[in-house]
Amino acid sequence: MAKPKVATASLAGCFGCHMSVLDIDDRILKLVELVEFNKSPINDIKKFTDRCAVGLIEGGCCNEENVRVLQDFRKNCDVLISVGECAIMGGIPAMRNTIPLKECLDEAYLNGPTVYNPAKKIPADKEIPLLLNRVYACHEVVKMDYHLPGCPPPADTIWEALVALLTGKPLKLSYELIKYD
Ligand code: SF4
Repeated sequence: MAKPKVATASLAGCFGCHMSVLDIDDRILKLVELVEFNKSPINDIKKFTDRCAVGLIEGGCCNEENVRVLQDFRKNCDVLISVGECAIMGGIPAMRNTIPLKECLDEAYLNGPTVYNPAKKIPADKEIPLLLNRVYACHEVVKMDYHLPGCPPPADTIWEALVALLTGKPLKLSYELIKYD
């Protein structure tokens, strides 16, 4: 029987949540027995080649490309999971949400104390994805089915959630796996 497929993406994140996926240590061998990875930075497959059972999303949406990737995941995955605080509520990148975008760009490219930019140009090449007015949590852009909290969520939390979803068991995480106090 064909294995269920899993896809992952890092949007406006730091790859820490992907590191946590890999942190399941030797269970990664069991995971490889259980699933096949499709589009993911883990295997560098850049386009969906098949429908996926689960999509793991790290990071929120800070630019138009993030939105496109997230919509593509919604279209191609049965279950979509926000993994970590950046996906759930924007995380560190969302600190810019209290400041108008123009002020952020001016500080980064014109006025910051370490800026050297004699041409006084803010990058605007059409190859660079357009920044959004603010950073959006994933569920503000598409419907997300589950949220796994943490920065990053522990490997055990990701493991338990994935195994439950892929084996058709109810997703019941113990308090220890989702407490952050
Ligand atoms: Fe990185 Fe934490 Fe955001 Fe995950 S939740 S992408 S570990 S900052």
